[in-house]
Amino acid sequence: MELPELRPDTPPEERDRRQRRRVRQQEMCRQKKISEIETAMHRLELVDHPDVTFSNKIIDAYDNINDICFNGRLPPGKDTIHWSPTPYRYAGGCMYGVHGVVVGIVLNVSITSLPEMISVVVHEMMHADVEIRRLPIGMQSHGRHFKDGVKRAVEALQGQLDVLHNIVGTEITLDAKTVGKSRSVSTYRRSEGITDGLPD
Ligand SMILES: [Zn+2]
Repeated sequence: MELPELRPDTPPEERDRRQRRRVRQQEMCRQKKISEIETAMHRLELVDHPDVTFSNKIIDAYDNINDICFNGRLPPGKDTIHWSPTPYRYAGGCMYGVHGVVVGIVLNVSITSLPEMISVVVHEMMHADVEIRRLPIGMQSHGRHFKDGVKRAVEALQGQLDVLHNIVGTEITLDAKTVGKSRSVSTYRRSEGITDGLPD
């Protein structure tokens, strides 16, 4: 709803009242959009990971990557990571976020290789960070901020691969090219707050 223009003689309390109403309306819009994204995410077939050890390792790795690469900006792994056999268009993963809020990261439960999954996790975490920092996402959601971020994140992780190795119990190698790649850029749907991709 558009509010009429304020006249110069509008008393300050009326200005304040309208300003508060405007803020309330914006907040309602924001909450509505966030709940739409939550609904979109839950429309997927979300499942418990059949291998609890595997999923715990991924959550642990996520939390460590969050500290190493993102100063802990991203929400905790246990609240954020979900599993599905059908993330958006069967990608390796899919980040659901809008208005600077990360609603969730859905990972493809059929990926059983820990190194491959870590690559997907870093890719989706980068989408989450771009959302949280409200950076321009660029072409197909893999724009300059995404790519630069991947480069920095991979560099930081390369110095701490032993941390990841200790968590997952297997050798992890990471390179920016693999992490930054998305299998199908046509799956990008920014307007719906959904970004996804699968490193090739
Ligand atoms: Zn992507």
